[in-house]
Amino acid sequence: MKNERVRAAERIVTSHRQLEGGGFVVRRPIPGEQIDAVDPFLLIDEMGPVEYGPGEAVGAPDHPHRGFETVTYVLEGEMEHEDSAGHRGRLGPGDVQWMTAGAGIVHSEMPSQRIREQGGRVHGFQIWVNLPKKEKLTRPRYQEYSREKLPQARTDDGKAEVRVIAGEALGVQAVIQTRTPIVYQDWTLQPGADVTLPFASDLQMLVYVFEGSARVGPDGATVGEGQLAILGAGDSVRLAGSTEVARLLLLGGVPLREPVARYGPFVMNTRAELAEAFEDFQSGRMGEITRTAEVQGDSSP
Ligand code: FE
Repeated sequence: MKNERVRAAERIVTSHRQLEGGGFVVRRPIPGEQIDAVDPFLLIDEMGPVEYGPGEAVGAPDHPHRGFETVTYVLEGEMEHEDSAGHRGRLGPGDVQWMTAGAGIVHSEMPSQRIREQGGRVHGFQIWVNLPKKEKLTRPRYQEYSREKLPQARTDDGKAEVRVIAGEALGVQAVIQTRTPIVYQDWTLQPGADVTLPFASDLQMLVYVFEGSARVGPDGATVGEGQLAILGAGDSVRLAGSTEVARLLLLGGVPLREPVARYGPFVMNTRAELAEAFEDFQSGRMGEITRTAEVQGDSSP
């Protein structure tokens, strides 16, 4: 691996705190004041970590999406999902849900009833992956994988471990299918870890550190907790540990290089398509969530 070009951390963005949905706190590197999006990633939200008391936990009740994918990855706590296509899921620690909203879906994303009632700790991610123009109106799709079904690997020295949600690392291939080539990996680096990984040069690569700090690129630039590093051109990524354990998401995607018209829960290519999305949602063409009394579970006076 002598002639490889290791991608440098070209830009480091510090996330801001923001209230989302029904009022939950997220750490959000994009979109922010400095950067709108890093094609094809539209949004990176770190939910929490937050410790809710009884009755405090809030989520995002019924709302629509069109034109992209929402990816939810739970680290701590429990999330419940329902959508207008009839998908239902409960995500616990380490579980992933990859939802292709495509032509349109209405969904609800809430902390589990147990956490809403009794409180608890919640920590996780939601990332929005844009869809190319030709796939924006594709049929909604739902992929859900539990922690045990997600491939894992570690380096020979045991100092770097990865959970592969999308893409490939250390010879391990993801089980989730993506519409365009996407990398989504949860890395844990012990002090002394130093790993260099090949990734195709047409990918835009990103590193988001959510615990400790890591060193990235040929010169080992430090990326701290809550910071997003946007990597430059190259064909490999170098991740190195620091003095304490570091955890990070390694993300990558092939830039779509298409116009983005974005408003709230819709991401299209033109303003006219956005207006159409609103109209379709308001007239009920994105459907609604069918609930039974049992699932609704809210008969308290
Ligand atoms: Fe949503």
